[in-house]
Amino acid sequence: MTIRFPDIPAFEPGTVWLVGAGPGDPGLLTVLALHALSEADVIVYDALVDERILALTNPAATRIHAGKRGGRPSPSQADISRTLIKEARKSVRVLRLKGGDPFIFGRGGEEARALAEAGIPFRLVPGITAGIGGLAYAGIPATHRDINSAVAFVTGHAVGGNLPDDVDWEALGRGAPVLVIYMALNNIEAIAHKLIEAGRNPTEPVAIISRATTPTQSVLQTTLAAAAHEARVQSLKPPAIVVVGRTVELHSILNWFTP
Ligand code: SAH
Repeated sequence: MTIRFPDIPAFEPGTVWLVGAGPGDPGLLTVLALHALSEADVIVYDALVDERILALTNPAATRIHAGKRGGRPSPSQADISRTLIKEARKSVRVLRLKGGDPFIFGRGGEEARALAEAGIPFRLVPGITAGIGGLAYAGIPATHRDINSAVAFVTGHAVGGNLPDDVDWEALGRGAPVLVIYMALNNIEAIAHKLIEAGRNPTEPVAIISRATTPTQSVLQTTLAAAAHEARVQSLKPPAIVVVGRTVELHSILNWFTP
């Protein structure tokens, strides 16, 4: 049986679709993402987009890599926005493909804003963010009734590589029973330290989900006090999501995914 989806919008030439590709597993693409992949003339993609997803694109499409490559620095955000505008003005269908969700630590807002200011019509297609999809594939509920009524998404990495200085770890430590931390691997020692300072128990469970939803996914379960050391000795591979909180304990029961 062929499934026919109602009302799939046309990908009009001269427009840009900003699409979330999800955390890796191609099965987690949305119907709109799949539609965009098959229709696009130009695809501007990030380093985090899974090879198996790029393989689904129209072979005739032009691919532009907008991430770090072979030691060369990644193009600046302004360069990427300029490319999107330039391509759209050629009256082709431009797909801007990003890992996870474009609006979660993905600079989707900056690119959409540049398009809006240039008068280029665009559509946003949300994707499954690593902090949701990665947790599901690790069997760690982001919320669980008896454990937490709040969850926070945080970045552990500012532009320069340090901890972002606009994160109030003290308040998060008190207010968010479960923290889902993106880009945390390099600064995990400092983050654990700040959370313990904020009153979190050093024995609190922590999971580090590396390469979530891919064939090389690994889940390391540890504690706040031991996380930095464990991450080092296990030499975990990026990208990785760090989860702090008691829902991590459910991993041992709900761990369904065998890569
Ligand atoms: N927009 C993306 C996040 C981009 S920031 C999203 O919504 O998922 C990049 C960070 O995302 C990485 O440092 C890592 O913390 C996380 N990440 C992305 N893909 C991941 C994956 N497959 N497994 C684990 N973490 C991932």
